[in-house]
This record gives sequence, C-alpha cells and structure tokens, in this order.
Amino acid sequence: MATSSLRLLTVFGEKRYTPMFDKNTPDLADPALLVPGHLNLYSCPMESGTERTPLRDFSLEELVAYFTSLGEKPFRARQVFQWMWQKGATEFSQMTNISRSLIQRLETIATLDRTEVVFISQSPASETRKLLLRLQDGKTVETVLIPEESRVTVCLSSQVGCGLDCDFCATGKMGLLRNLTAGEITDQLRQVMAISSRPVTNIVFMGMGEPFHNYSAVLKAADMMHDELAYGTGARRITISTSGLVPQIKQFAEENRRYKLAVSLNATVDEQRNVLMPINKKWNISALMDACKYYTEKTHNMLTFEYVLMAGINDTLQDARRLIQIARPVFCKVNVIPYNDINGTYRRPADEKIEAFLQELSKGNFPLTVRWSRGGDIDAACGQLATQTKKMQPGFNPIET
Ligand code: SF4
Repeated sequence: MATSSLRLLTVFGEKRYTPMFDKNTPDLADPALLVPGHLNLYSCPMESGTERTPLRDFSLEELVAYFTSLGEKPFRARQVFQWMWQKGATEFSQMTNISRSLIQRLETIATLDRTEVVFISQSPASETRKLLLRLQDGKTVETVLIPEESRVTVCLSSQVGCGLDCDFCATGKMGLLRNLTAGEITDQLRQVMAISSRPVTNIVFMGMGEPFHNYSAVLKAADMMHDELAYGTGARRITISTSGLVPQIKQFAEENRRYKLAVSLNATVDEQRNVLMPINKKWNISALMDACKYYTEKTHNMLTFEYVLMAGINDTLQDARRLIQIARPVFCKVNVIPYNDINGTYRRPADEKIEAFLQELSKGNFPLTVRWSRGGDIDAACGQLATQTKKMQPGFNPIET
C-alpha cells in the first residue's frame, strides 16, 4: 500500500488516515464508533454461538494442523499463510487460488483479524515514520519504520504498555495493559511493509513492552516473519532486546535460537541501575552478566549491550571505564544511544561529553557503535515510545495524501 492509497478522515478535529482498500475498516468519521464499547461492533460476528478462529495467530505448523482438522490438505494451509502475510490479503475473497467453497467455509468459521492504522506520523528531520495501530479490542500500539541508506529497520512492539517501569522510558509510565498475540506482532510488519517504498531488511523488538515477558508470542512471531511463505527475514536480521530477564536469557540460550540478542544495560553499578531499571532489584548486574556469559558460551553468538547515555546520570569517564570492565568478559559489542529527550527528568549529554565518553569506551576490546536515535523528534526512538492516541503532540506531522 503506497501512502497515496491512504484516505484522510477528520475525527473531532484530528486528521487520521486509513487504508482505502480495506473494506472492513470502520468509518472513523462516525463519532459513535469512538465511544468505548462500540468498537466491538466491528469484531467478528459469531457463527452459531461459536467464536470464529483468528488465523493470523497461527504459526504455519498450527495452520496446517487446523486445516487438517477441517479435512483439508496441508498445501491449502500454506497457500492461506502466504496470502495472509506475503501477499497481504485482508479478506478470504482475495485468495484467488482457493476454491470458492473453501472461501465460503472459512468466512463462516475463521477470521483474518488484523490491526488498523489510526494515523501515521512523519519525522520532519528524517524519513522515519511512526504508525499508531489499533487492535481488535480498541487498544493501540506503535510501530516505527526507520529507512537508512543501507538498510530499512522496523521497530516492533511486543506488549500494550510495559510492566517494568524503567525510569527513563515513556512506555513504562503506561503500566502493562496486556501482551500482544503472535498475529498482532507480525501484523505490525505487514502494515509497515505496506507503506515502505523499500524492502524491510532488519527487525528489532525494541518498541513498546519487554519482549521476554511475552516470550512465546514473540518467538512465535519471529518464526512467522522468518518463514519463506511470510517475509523470509533472515534470523540474524531479527534482534530481540531485553531489559535483563535472567531466566528467559538462559531459556533463549538453551533453545539455541538463532535470532540476535540485545540487553539494555544503561548503568554500571547496582545502585544506579536499581533506579533506572527496577528489574535490577530482582536480577542485579552480576546475575545479568552471568546469564549473558552463559548465553554467549552456549550459543557462540555475540550479544549487544545497549547503553542509553543520559546527562549527569551515566555519562562520566568512570562510567565508561566500569562499562569496559563489565563488558570485556562477554563476547559482545556495545551500542551507545545518546538519550532522546521525552520528558523533563532526563537529558541527552552535550556533544563534547558524548565524544569524551565514546573516546574512553573505545579503549575496550569490543566493537563499539553509536545510534543517534532516528525519529527522536517524533518520540520514535526505541524504548521511548508513548501512546499518542488521544492527542497528537508537537513534532508529529501527519502524512498528507
Ligand atoms: S525500557 Fe523497555 S523494559 Fe523498560 S519500561 Fe520501557 S519498554 Fe519496558
């Protein structure tokens, strides 16, 4: 879907955009539909008192089992899986190589439930775009498309809100509303691909939520995106980022998953990390490092430590030296992210301070990268998303058609 296929609607003075081809999208111009409780008018109707089965939540293997239970051949499941994801079908009737009788049957017993675009905002300073997507229950999540010269990255959400309450994070302020399903996670990629003029090359789970708090759905979604009949994204182009859930890091190692792992470190002493990331009170830096070493030794995969650099908090030369001591024993690279200002509490350090920190850190014997947050001006930097459902904030430029 090109951006020109979006239609502009005005709701209570706000501009919103919905895909034109999507016949099931409710007319947002009707204020009655925005009253809480009315959105379920568009949830799937029941068939003989039984809820229809949402097919997007099925892995390919599960879809094959479902079709087999219907007395259908496995190749039919593969065709439907490919239509749902790779071909972007939103209605069974679009599946032109499926028999009419099977389409009619699926329309009765199953659904292609999906997210709906509420609005898309464009960074004035870059090509970064942020999508606000509405789920079937009316809750919203954000997904970010970050085109760069050599790659196109998508930042996915794994939960509505987050329960970990990191002090510097906008999403943490929302609390945890619920986990996303594998279908809702994968559907974010479908929506982003529909508006991207270039193929998506990299996927990062760094949006709203702690991915390892929703472990099975996140891994299932990654497997679905990796599948050749969906998007065929290479396993080493999918990165899962955790705030440091030790049992899940060990589980990830034991399952020998091929996806990349990133760990948000952000501090070098427990007193500091306890404040920034309260999860540290449960698993402190020492326990976290033991889990990280276990992961790299078990899988022989390099992991990435993310370090959000905040003025006056964790940006001294002493912090850099401690970070070297912590990171050195682990097969890792370190990614420094100068903070993206979103509230009055934390600030990005001055450029000279950032340079001095990086200079000191470069003495470590590990690869070092810096991510100057793309889309910081639209609150789109990963781990710094906040839901914008009610109000568009300064810096948001709705895409004009
Ligand atoms: S930084 Fe990540 S883990 Fe921490 S509150 Fe935000 S979304 Fe949750």
